[in-house]
Formats: sequence, structure tokens, C-alpha cells
Amino acid sequence: MSMRAVPFYCPYCAEQSIEPIGEGRVYYCASCDRRFEVRFAGLGEEES
Ligand SMILES: [Zn+2]
Repeated sequence: MSMRAVPFYCPYCAEQSIEPIGEGRVYYCASCDRRFEVRFAGLGEEES
């Protein structure tokens, strides 16, 4: 699955100053100096 999910806000400081790093799914926030990864975890509720 190559569906791309692009975050618009930093999940830590809620600023929009984030940019992707390389070809992966890692983003860098210049506002809070954090790197984070966006991962698709599946559809629907988590199965138990
Ligand atoms: Zn941030």
C-alpha cells in the first residue's frame, strides 16, 4: 500500500513548521526540534 499520509501539524507542538526527511516517513519539526515518524497502523478498530 503506497497511500501517503502527510501530517500538517506537529503532533508535539502543533506548529506547521514540519518537513519530511529523506524518502522515508520521518518528519522534522523546526519549531520544537523533534523528529517523528508517521505510520499507517491499519483500518478500523484494533482487533483483540
Ligand atoms: Zn513541533
